[in-house]
Amino acid sequence: MIFLTTTATTISGALQQIREQASWIDGVEVRVDLLDSAERPGLTALAAAVRERAPGLRVLCTVRRESDGGRWRRPESERHELLDRLSRAGFDLIDLEADLPSLEAERSGATVVRSVHDLDGTPVDLERLVRSLPRRPGEVAKVAVTPRSTAELVAIFRAAERLQDVPHIILGMGAFGIPSRILRRRMGNLLTFASAPGESAAPGHLCPRTLAALYRLRSHGDSTACFAVAGNPIAHSRSPAYHNERFAKEAIDAVYIPLLVDDVAALFELADALPLSGFSVTIPHKRAAVAHLTEMGDDVRATLACNTVLRTSSGWRGVNTDVVGFLTPLEEAYSPACAGEYATLRGASVLLLGAGGSARAVGYALLSRGAKVAVWNRTEANARSLAADLKRLAPDATVEALEHDARGGPASKPVVDLVVNTTSVGMHGEGDPAPWYDFRGQEIVYDIVYTPPQTPLIIRAAGAGCRVITGDRMFAAQAAAQYSLYRSIAIADAPAV
Ligand code: NAP
Repeated sequence: MIFLTTTATTISGALQQIREQASWIDGVEVRVDLLDSAERPGLTALAAAVRERAPGLRVLCTVRRESDGGRWRRPESERHELLDRLSRAGFDLIDLEADLPSLEAERSGATVVRSVHDLDGTPVDLERLVRSLPRRPGEVAKVAVTPRSTAELVAIFRAAERLQDVPHIILGMGAFGIPSRILRRRMGNLLTFASAPGESAAPGHLCPRTLAALYRLRSHGDSTACFAVAGNPIAHSRSPAYHNERFAKEAIDAVYIPLLVDDVAALFELADALPLSGFSVTIPHKRAAVAHLTEMGDDVRATLACNTVLRTSSGWRGVNTDVVGFLTPLEEAYSPACAGEYATLRGASVLLLGAGGSARAVGYALLSRGAKVAVWNRTEANARSLAADLKRLAPDATVEALEHDARGGPASKPVVDLVVNTTSVGMHGEGDPAPWYDFRGQEIVYDIVYTPPQTPLIIRAAGAGCRVITGDRMFAAQAAAQYSLYRSIAIADAPAV
């Protein structure tokens, strides 16, 4: 069930939010603490007003005080009186914090949601806390905590798994907690909360449409396969939109979620806890993921970088779809139909900007096609290490790391046929990874950054007359390769009907 948390300051504003979101929600949390105090007289008729406008919705009443993340600043005694009155006003559920003294609400017809909020972290013994909350049969324990790491999110999922016998809502607030909001079924949560588009009643709230239409939360069942993209940052990733849309189009019972990951070992623990059937790995974890694989494809073995992890019967198999993803639009540019003056990739000289996880796949792909590669990177040692690894793979190839001069620029400026940016510089439309490079207008310039596709480098190169390849084309090619792997697993694991 998806509950819209209202954020309006007036009753008419709250009803408007409910009307607009009605097709994506199953219930409403009316946040009385956010309403102006002048609205108090109308509160007793509010539950009926919601049902009149959106029949079938369940209505939860919450008066959240400031210390729990709300806006109630009046004395506690006044809040208790208000809650007592509201408990007899026809709400289906009423939120009462764990430390509240006994209230009339507990004996009213409303289901009591007994809540605790931790705005700073995740309690060590979450399971015991949840078990301690219900005071009477039928009460629902609600704990909203703030995971500060991937490991804390693992602890939340593990605790939820052991708490299937207690009616509960356990949510992780903030960016690390988002999976606990999407995977309501796996968490065993009675419901999940959402805010209207552009609003945020609590950190990490998604909007009802995103939960219902993109993540198809309301159709998740016990056998729904779960996939993810893991990175830091992760909010920019287009992978959830891409894979969820394709799963939906083919009516495949699977969901694909974003994971903010600060530690790769914890990512693999989370992958076991959820469990994930497979996941994409992005900035900056592609290299570190390799150490956790039990099997790997040739592309991973060669590049020592992994962007796709698939569950097997005995562990995790890594593959790297960046290699094919990178080459697909590049080889189109060098195909006889498009090449024009660009003869061939074989023997082409390439300036490779960056030496991170993606640079390994790109460098390997370029050498496999006979290109000559010069690596430039902010950290010179990483460029040298990448060049040495590439040289080991292809001893006959021409590969070098460009040295830095005293001002941090390259000691010598190469003249090249192709410039490829694999650094993260240019994400969010800011920064040029090679301001020192003057385009002649004859180069092909390929920026793998795709958020946005029109990066400052692409704009500068196009302005100088260069032919450009934008990162969204690589994204589409590598994501298509990933999707066919995920699709096969989801179909193979689906229960026979
Ligand atoms: P990564 O492993 O973290 O590598 C980041 C690279 O960027 C390193 O070479 C790093 O240099 C460099 N860098 C970071 N900040 C910099 C700065 N301020 N100035 C100069 N250099 C900087 O990341 P990744 O996984 O390779 O991803 C890199 C980018 O490629 C991301 O934007 C990602 O979204 C994009 N990407 C796109 C696709 C696609 O399908 N289009 C596929 C993969 C990746 P140091 O060595 O000095 O740290």
